[in-house]
Amino acid sequence: MRAVCLNAEWDPRPDFKLGSKDVEGKLTYLGSQVWRNPRIEIIEKENPTPGPEEVLIKARACGICGSDVHMLQSDSDGYIFYPGLTAFPATLGHEFSGEVVGVGEGAINRRTGRQFEIGEAVCAEEMFWCGQCKPCADGYPNHCERLEELGFSVDGTLAAYVTVSARYLWSLEALRELYGEDKMYELGSLVEPTSVAYNAVHERGGGIRPGENVVILGGGPIGAAACAVLKRSGAAAVILSEPSKPRREMATEMGATHVLNPMEVDVAEAVLDITQGVGAKIILEASGVPSVVWPDIEKIIWEGKALNTTVVVVARADEKIPFTGEVFQVRRASIVGAQGHSGHGTYPNVINTMATGMDVSPIITKRIGLDEVEENLVMLRTDRDEAKITITDYD
Ligand SMILES: [Zn+2]
Ligand SMILES: [Zn+2]
Repeated sequence: MRAVCLNAEWDPRPDFKLGSKDVEGKLTYLGSQVWRNPRIEIIEKENPTPGPEEVLIKARACGICGSDVHMLQSDSDGYIFYPGLTAFPATLGHEFSGEVVGVGEGAINRRTGRQFEIGEAVCAEEMFWCGQCKPCADGYPNHCERLEELGFSVDGTLAAYVTVSARYLWSLEALRELYGEDKMYELGSLVEPTSVAYNAVHERGGGIRPGENVVILGGGPIGAAACAVLKRSGAAAVILSEPSKPRREMATEMGATHVLNPMEVDVAEAVLDITQGVGAKIILEASGVPSVVWPDIEKIIWEGKALNTTVVVVARADEKIPFTGEVFQVRRASIVGAQGHSGHGTYPNVINTMATGMDVSPIITKRIGLDEVEENLVMLRTDRDEAKITITDYD
């Protein structure tokens, strides 16, 4: 089978020290410190065979993620942008769904106690948590200390077939009747980013009560999925701020009740106006530019009547947050960080919510084949209008 593989040279920066979990020449937790001259290689590989607890899956849909873009992009010294866990060469692809075509003897669906079935539609968590470290034992698999990641440190799903341990798999069959096969697989590839949004607003942000208002800063796939999840949770005003017009239109389809162009309006003023001076219960930072959005966040909290606002930081950014303690003290507000999508029943809740009508498919704005991955990864360096580009053609 053909596989879209990312390769780069192991050539650590002069001040880089091998971490305790890094493997010389092969794996690091600090990708941007080590890997140089990234390139896409389309390679021919043997079809994988499933181990005793694994399932062989024929991939049907796989979304391109910002991290894929950043693994191929390099700075002026040639080092990759992506800062995290990486082991190259690796087949890319992690936001996927597919059809079960082979099942190891012990590949049990732990939620049902039965083996996965041939022909069953599934999706997988991207984070292969170990189940044995302290964070895992304490119930926090998103913070596993011995993580492997599909499409980053183990071969991913930009190839016709992939094997995944049954413990990370979830059935999508609940979606089949409502959506039909093709749309079921497309929605299946969106379970991962939607779960990132769900984990951020509900597990980390503490959720909302029906009738409360929310503000989402940034209308990429995570911000857009958050609109859908929060609308479905009973939010009154779902206000999204995003400079790109196509993204704003998409967010409206997803459940945003108001969309703002931050290049044209004062976001804080607009939020206070829309909410009649109340403000928001949750403000989701999904833009990745904290210095730009933070003054608006603090103004909404400071001038709004709502106490107890929670700001959830889900976008990753190296930049410092220009934080004013006084605002958070006086207004009983808080800030939490959110990462990951595993645990807490998040995947099944997202799948159930899709099965009962939460259609997040507008997030997919372009469908491509395996051969078109590289050009689209390059295009996404500058494009702000596409949301999710999804591989649906594996031939
Ligand atoms: Zn991703
Ligand atoms: Zn662990």
